[in-house]
Amino acid sequence: MSLSYILGLLKKFTKHYCPISAKISNFETNKSRLITFSTFFGLNLLQNLTKMSSTGVGVEGGLGKMKFIDIGANLTDDMYSGMYNGSKKHEPDIDKVLSRAWNVGLEKIFITAGNLSDVRNSLKLANTNDRLYTTVGVHPTRCSEFDTEFPTPSEYIQNLKQEFDSNIDKIVALGEFGLDYERTKFCDVETQKKYFRLQLEQLGPYTNLPLFLHCRAAATDLHEILSQNLSSFPRGGVVHSFDGSEEEMKNFVQLGLHIGLNGCSLKTEENCKVVKEIPVERILFETDAPWCGIRPSHFSSSFVKTKFPAVKKNYDENMMYKTRNEPHTILNILEIVAHIKGDMDPADLASKVYENTLKLFS
Ligand SMILES: [Zn+2]
Repeated sequence: MSLSYILGLLKKFTKHYCPISAKISNFETNKSRLITFSTFFGLNLLQNLTKMSSTGVGVEGGLGKMKFIDIGANLTDDMYSGMYNGSKKHEPDIDKVLSRAWNVGLEKIFITAGNLSDVRNSLKLANTNDRLYTTVGVHPTRCSEFDTEFPTPSEYIQNLKQEFDSNIDKIVALGEFGLDYERTKFCDVETQKKYFRLQLEQLGPYTNLPLFLHCRAAATDLHEILSQNLSSFPRGGVVHSFDGSEEEMKNFVQLGLHIGLNGCSLKTEENCKVVKEIPVERILFETDAPWCGIRPSHFSSSFVKTKFPAVKKNYDENMMYKTRNEPHTILNILEIVAHIKGDMDPADLASKVYENTLKLFS
């Protein structure tokens, strides 16, 4: 009798299995983080951080004590294998990327998966490190796979269920799924709605996981479908990479959902005004790496306090590469949101968001 079979049985007899709380005992802060941080990024950055600490987050301001969970990072993206638009720019460097992540205080990273093969690749990576977890689900832009990959959509669902059953201790959310009306060229609106509903109805009660929701220019329809299927997600969920209006945010919050913030949620002054109104107890942090980095042209960029060294041309394994985003920039999300929220104490905000994350995913 295999371990996964026993876990599968346990799932059926318990309300839900809690991979995150099962690992809470491992959440002890790495006390040597400050030392490794300085070795990793070089003395210059450490000196800069120390200088910044009087006004910013910095070392004395709490870096090394703060804990984060990145609820959404696309760590199986080709860029972490050194591939950019089909051409190889450097060797795979996920180990370096993860080291940088742990060194700023990330305790866990949830890898975002958006179709069956993504789920399998994410699980492969998640199984190499006890701080990595994944989602299970099909992204709206890939929903046509339900009609093409197997003879019937229910066989696709069955395969997702099998991955869930065999890896129950590594899967933290149902998703990434939802609606994307900005990229209907990959999958039309009706197909997106059909398979969002199917996943909610068939995987929601089966997995009893919180939802990891994608929403682009589709808040009204997403809200309507969720409202019609409340019994499918008793544990709630998060609308990740939120960039909608204040009214849309409030409607999702009323539905009991959390709001996931990354660089794409903080691009414009309007975005930042909406973020100011989100109840702190509903905020979660993410990076959506390698995407959604904070660019100098973004309204929020002036609120960033910790500058991570990056190279524009020649690859250097110890620095960020061009515009490829990495999970350790979650520190910048914290700095920006703390500023927007009326200069909240960053350490206090980090701890609240960390607790929000544990509450939702445990
Ligand atoms: Zn998304």
